[in-house]
Amino acid sequence: MSSPTKKRGGTSAHPVRAAGRGGLRRLAGPVLAAGLAVGQLAAASSLDISDRYSPLNRKRPVRPETRYIILHTTEGSEAGSLRKVRKYGEAHYFITAAGKVYRIIDRRKIAAHAGRSMWGGRTNLDAMSIGIEVVGTYDRDINAAQYDALRELLRQLKGLYKIRDRDVLPHSMVAYGRPNRFHRANHRGRKRCGAIFARPDVRRRLGLAKRPPSDPDVLAGRLKVGDPDLQRMLFAATAPAPRQAILSGDSGPAAAGSAAPSSASGNGGGDSMVISRGRNAWSIAREAYDHPTTVYVFPDGTRTRGDEIADWDRIPAGTTVHLSEEEPEQEFEGFLEIGKDGDTIPDLAGDAAREATTIYFFPSGLIRTGAELAADASLRKMLAAPPKGTRLLVGYVYGGYVRARRSAYAIARSKWNYPSTFYRLPTGRILSGDEVDEASIPFRTLVFFQN
Ligand SMILES: [Zn+2]
Repeated sequence: MSSPTKKRGGTSAHPVRAAGRGGLRRLAGPVLAAGLAVGQLAAASSLDISDRYSPLNRKRPVRPETRYIILHTTEGSEAGSLRKVRKYGEAHYFITAAGKVYRIIDRRKIAAHAGRSMWGGRTNLDAMSIGIEVVGTYDRDINAAQYDALRELLRQLKGLYKIRDRDVLPHSMVAYGRPNRFHRANHRGRKRCGAIFARPDVRRRLGLAKRPPSDPDVLAGRLKVGDPDLQRMLFAATAPAPRQAILSGDSGPAAAGSAAPSSASGNGGGDSMVISRGRNAWSIAREAYDHPTTVYVFPDGTRTRGDEIADWDRIPAGTTVHLSEEEPEQEFEGFLEIGKDGDTIPDLAGDAAREATTIYFFPSGLIRTGAELAADASLRKMLAAPPKGTRLLVGYVYGGYVRARRSAYAIARSKWNYPSTFYRLPTGRILSGDEVDEASIPFRTLVFFQN
């Protein structure tokens, strides 16, 4: 924080040099030559580490710098979470309930783990951090095997990248949300993920001497507090005792029968999935409150999708919220975004703003090409003043819908399975070409491929 422009940590171009200033010496000797020569973190004898690389590892770019380590809790079963984290490349390391460590994304590359994030005014922390997923929930202690694995992994990474203890942060400390129906300003509280790793006693057991004393972005007025209970968990000097650790033989939190990020197991109602006084749709579903994959079951048994609800003030108490476990952290990976990558359309699309090869994804769900927007008097204003969060693909072909006699291959030909090709499913989910199975693409899926 004292020198915001100074780069810390090593880059992939010099993995050994980055390790040379102290970190190298602490690594286990015999495996050094083999381990670091191929850019792997050396496996010390006390670390049971193996490769479970994501299919996305290949196409992920190298991270320019490394300032932070972000700690996550899976909030779901071990098997389901591992599948999702690998599928979307959502962490560099995954620690099982038994204390095994899996490599998911090469530690030098970018993993999509932090999502919308800010710390000390810096945003998009994926570009400057290593992400570690630990099987567990944000309010539950981890077990002895997990402590051993995480402590050793942190010791090696801190040495390798010269990361300070206070820069090892729970995901919930850095995640933030945009203004929405429930919060008028950018706010902390988008996630509770990893909150257990803010506890001074937990940090001490992990070999972390310090934690941030306060939230720099709330202090500076960049963010509002969206979840006061979370803020107390993260920064209070004393916190209530955590729930008991899961046992290493468990398959994880879902062994208790709950879905992420819930606990239907009834731990006092703090995490109930039922809407009640003081517990609204946002406090249960967070940013997924209006997603098509979030389902509301009203007390009379009727079911409604989040994107079908218009009046959020009139959801009756007793309504149960069902979340999809498969919601990826960053489904729009590869898209440009108004307010993130640039403030105006010319910033992002230049002269191509009104072309058919620029495709706009508005927050309302509307998708149009630049040519269509320019040709329609009622839509032209959206080109002049696009809502924040509007996403763009530049240099793309709008391939239209997959139909019974119009396959993805018929639309995009050899590019149908390219990582740069995107599919928008009828549910609103975006998948890239290397994530879809051509045999299971639903009709009415839209296809976009590079020109
Ligand atoms: Zn997380």
